[in-house]
Amino acid sequence: MSPPHPKTAVAPQRGAVIVISAPSGTGKSTLIRRLLRTVSGLTFSVSHTTRPPRPGERDGREYFFVGRAEFRRLIRAGEFVEWARVFGHYYGTSRRQIEQAQAQGRDVVLDIDVQGHRQVRRSLPDAVSIFILPPSYSELERRLRRRHSEEPQVIARRLAAARREVRCWKEYDYLVVNDSLDRAARALRVIVEATRYRRQSQQPRIQAIRKTFVGGKTEWKCHRASTASFASF
Ligand code: 5GP
Repeated sequence: MSPPHPKTAVAPQRGAVIVISAPSGTGKSTLIRRLLRTVSGLTFSVSHTTRPPRPGERDGREYFFVGRAEFRRLIRAGEFVEWARVFGHYYGTSRRQIEQAQAQGRDVVLDIDVQGHRQVRRSLPDAVSIFILPPSYSELERRLRRRHSEEPQVIARRLAAARREVRCWKEYDYLVVNDSLDRAARALRVIVEATRYRRQSQQPRIQAIRKTFVGGKTEWKCHRASTASFASF
């Protein structure tokens, strides 16, 4: 009897949660946009925020823009996997969006700060996290000045936050230094692609393969009896 056609036997993979954090001015948004454009099967998690939209931002694309009362209601309803106050505004990640994407076998990218990452880590221990760093403090300062040329107090606030945030680099799985946009974009792609080969991401696929080995039997364990030891030399 011939085995079932592999295509029908293969179940879709379970999508991963990929957290990306970086101090403001590091190029994170540009890198995430590139990542979404160049890697298929990715969904961007659109956060809710109480911050007013910036010119060019559209409700439901960059963020869902909500008032404080609505944000409070969402917290109480348990709609957020995590939420935090960043630069005086509230931001929260929708639990439903993550679950929907994962169920469809899509990886979900979360652009959140270090406080948010800490909370995600606790509730979703399988999440993969990436911290993007500028090549140096002075380079970050230069980039922020170029971006916020008329607002010295904004620059000062963002630099102070950056000093606090970079200290948290050890909490992340991967570090990417954005010294060249192309190199950093490539690093993000490689990390996301490697994530798809993790054991945790391949459970449904392994189950399908398992059935071809052991059929209906439940036993499929690794036997450790043959482990060699120094004593046997
Ligand atoms: P911005 O207002 O400039 O778009 O974002 C400010 C900061 O808030 C960024 O560091 C961004 O990563 C973070 N952020 C955006 N969405 C969320 C979220 O849902 N949760 C948390 N904790 N941080 C977020």
